[in-house]
Amino acid sequence: MGSSEVGSPEQRELVALERDIVACRRCPRLVAWRELVARERKAAFADQTYWGRPVPGFGDPRARILVLGLAPAAHGANRTGRMFTGDRSGDFLYAAMWRAGLASQPSSTARGDGLRLRGVWVTAAVRCAPPANRPAPDEREECLPWGVRELELLSAVRVILCLGAFAWNAALRLSAAAALARASDGAGGAADDAGGADEPRPRPRFGHGAEHLAARHMLIGCYHPSQQNTFTGRLTEPMIDAVLARTRELAKTSRESGPDLGRFAGSGMAARLLDDRAREPR
Ligand code: SF4
Repeated sequence: MGSSEVGSPEQRELVALERDIVACRRCPRLVAWRELVARERKAAFADQTYWGRPVPGFGDPRARILVLGLAPAAHGANRTGRMFTGDRSGDFLYAAMWRAGLASQPSSTARGDGLRLRGVWVTAAVRCAPPANRPAPDEREECLPWGVRELELLSAVRVILCLGAFAWNAALRLSAAAALARASDGAGGAADDAGGADEPRPRPRFGHGAEHLAARHMLIGCYHPSQQNTFTGRLTEPMIDAVLARTRELAKTSRESGPDLGRFAGSGMAARLLDDRAREPR
């Protein structure tokens, strides 16, 4: 989010939220890891100063699409300070977003490199780089309130693009927690209330192209753009392009059709979405 976009109270709160997130030290294991990696560095980046702090989300504050990843990469976003920047996953993702008209340039190398996102906000379920890319369940829960607050401030978001199964499951929790926080707004603070949200049971299965209406947001799944997936052909450019096209279609439909379930009525999905909701626990 650029300073020229910081106008509304919500946008100013996003800036304040970023400041709070960057100062967070709630997870001792992750704090130790992110700072160790930043001190030791990789030989290829030995001349660089690593970010070494929680990585905040960024993008268009009026976004209708939230792109949700797992966590910053140790030598990627933990180095650059911008989500999905500085590694092969980000190269693949931003190139796809550029082809889809959602990003102003096909690559992102650092904060301040001129990248602008259109209608999209990029964030992660866990904001500190975890050892072996595996956050612990308690770390995931510690970071959830930041996501709830972020989603609350990004009030136009209707579609969450989930990069991988971890992000899919995180989005289910996040959307439910955000809905709970919204419902209980004024009863003690949204972020503090978020931890009590239930996940849907049975949990909808993640898949590439899977769709599910979770609380107030439409979820769409995409294989994570990790090297393991892109080098093996499990995730190809046409595959991510198709998911991004579908994501854009869902976001556009939500704009044309009004709030809540009605916003998807024009897409021919309403009956299936209502079926999904009927299977969710009340
Ligand atoms: S993972 Fe989230 S909650 Fe834990 S220290 Fe980082 S920003 Fe804070």
